Order: sequence, then C-alpha cells, then structure tokens
Amino acid sequence: MSDVRPHLSLPRLAIVIPCYNEEDVLPETMSRLRTFLDYLVAKEKVSPNSGALFVDDGSQDQTWKLIRQYNQQDGRIHGLKLSGNRGHQVALLAGLHAAEGDAIASIDADLQDDISTIEAMLDAYRDGADVVYGVRAGRASDTAFKRSTAELYYKLLAMLGVRIVYNHADFRLLSRRALTALKEFAEANLFIRGIVPLVGFKSTQVYYERAERFAGESKYPLKKMLALAVDGVTSFTAFPLRLIAFLGIFVSLMSACMILWTIWVKLFTDDALPGWASSVIPTYFLGGIQLLSIGILGEYVAKIYLESKRRPRYFIDEQI
Ligand code: UDP
Ligand code: MG
Repeated sequence: MSDVRPHLSLPRLAIVIPCYNEEDVLPETMSRLRTFLDYLVAKEKVSPNSGALFVDDGSQDQTWKLIRQYNQQDGRIHGLKLSGNRGHQVALLAGLHAAEGDAIASIDADLQDDISTIEAMLDAYRDGADVVYGVRAGRASDTAFKRSTAELYYKLLAMLGVRIVYNHADFRLLSRRALTALKEFAEANLFIRGIVPLVGFKSTQVYYERAERFAGESKYPLKKMLALAVDGVTSFTAFPLRLIAFLGIFVSLMSACMILWTIWVKLFTDDALPGWASSVIPTYFLGGIQLLSIGILGEYVAKIYLESKRRPRYFIDEQI
C-alpha cells in the first residue's frame, strides 16, 4: 500500500467522547479505551502521545468526578466540562474544537460503536482519506421501531436532497484539515453529520456492527431524537417550503376547477344540490394543509430567529 501521508512521525490520535450522565458506563469504557490506545501504540499505528478527550455535557451524576480520576491515573485522558447540558451535538462540537492531534475520532461514551473500527479508520487516513465515516453494517441491535424509523428518515433526507451517509451517525475520523474546515461552520442548529459531507476532501467508509449499550440507559429520548431529525431537514434544505408552494398551487387549481364545475352544474343541470361531504371535507382538508404549512414555515422562522441571535453555543467550565 502506498503511504500518502509521509509523516515523519506517527499520527497523533485524539478520540472525542461526549458524556451525559454516563457514570454507569465510564469505568468499562475507560478500560476498553486505554487497552485500545495501548494496542494502537504497540502496533505503531499512532504516536504515544495520543489520547482521549471526554466532554462532560453538564452531567448531574459522578461523570466529571470519574473523568478527573482517570485523568490523574493516565495522562492520556483529558476532560472538558461544559457549563451545562447543551445536547450531544454541541458537546461533540466542543470536544472537536478542543481536541489536539493529527487525526480526530469521535465515538459515543457507551461504545455501542465498535471502537476497534478506529484502527481501520486510521488505515484509511494513512492512505489519504480526510474523512472516514463509520457506517453500520446492519441494525440488528436496534428495536424494530428505531430501525424502521431511522431507515425511513435516511430515505426522506436523501429524497429532499440532503447529502448524508446512509447508516452513519457520529462515529467518524477527521484529519486535522477536515476538522479545521468543519470549524468554519458557525450554525447554532447543529446536525454535524450533515455538515461533514459539505467539507469535501477525500472521504471513505468503514463498516462495523453496532452493539447494545452494556450499561446505563439511552440519553436520547424520543423527544431529543425528533428534535435532531427536524434539524437534519430544516438546517439543510428549503424543500419543504417549496413543497408548500406547490401544494398551494395544486389546491388552488383544484378549487378553480371545482368553481367552474359548480357553475356548470348550476347553469346546465337541475341537480344543483351540493351534498354535505363536498362542503365539509374541503374545509377540513384545507384547514389541515394550512396548519401544516404554517407549522413548516414556523420551523424555518424559528431557525432564522435562533441563528440571528448568534448566541455562543457553549461555555467551558473546566478543562483538564
Ligand atoms: N449525550 C450528550 N448529551 C446529551 C445526550 C447524550 O452528550 O444531552 C451523549 C451520551 O452520553 C452518549 C451519546 O451522546 O455518549 C449518545 O447517546 P446515547 O448512547 O444515549 O444515544 P443512543 O445510542 O441511544 O442513540
Ligand atoms: Mg448509545
């Protein structure tokens, strides 16, 4: 294999891990992570000063205390404490901004994504890729509900023209220059997996099997998942707005035809006795479409509102 990254030294790897109330999983995660770092260093895949950056997203449990403890035991473990809970995407972004290294990987604290895949990501990086997406080979570990809704959602995004890697979440590796480019995106409504493809550069995918959480509960309740899903659409495409316009044109044309038809019935036939259905159904139908349209408009107006404030996305409470 050709070595397109003729680094004089081995790449320094940083693994960014957002954590929200993860005291149940951290001990296991930490031990797996340290073993993995040892392995990568021994195999001369990364430089010995590689490490991990844990981002505490305003946890209320012992998460930060644990991170501090591990930092004292092992100089490769670093921590970043946000001033409050800002959500997974912002926590991840904060970690990416603070991470030092040539290759920066991101993974969830529960290690549902197979951490050993990072080795394959590093190989792809060595061969010249700036962005390496971790893609789930299947969705066997998901509930039927999550599996079907996720697949439907990816298809919807593709249909709306949002460029996104199918079955890829936030498990990926970025080169330093891809990360520098990513930092240029200043949006408040973050959907990182939608931004990364916009960065360009050479990208590739590696496949892995996603396991189940080994401890603790999901920190992504349906509400947070839905909010992320809406961001994925409204932050990347105005197609729903256009759809409203098309719908409006279509319904207007239909009504025009109906008017003409009514006039015709009135003038040329004797059975001009409009039934209940033909007056009530359109009322509900149009009412529904109008409410939906206003709702979609509202979503975008809310986005403009939030972006125009240019609020800082996070504050760092402590860094170790
Ligand atoms: N997370 C976070 N802030 C939040 C919610 C979640 O930093 O407000 C982190 C969480 O600690 C984990 C990752 O985001 O590292 C993914 O969460 P989780 O594993 O609960 O999501 P799921 O795998 O169930 O989609
Ligand atoms: Mg998880």
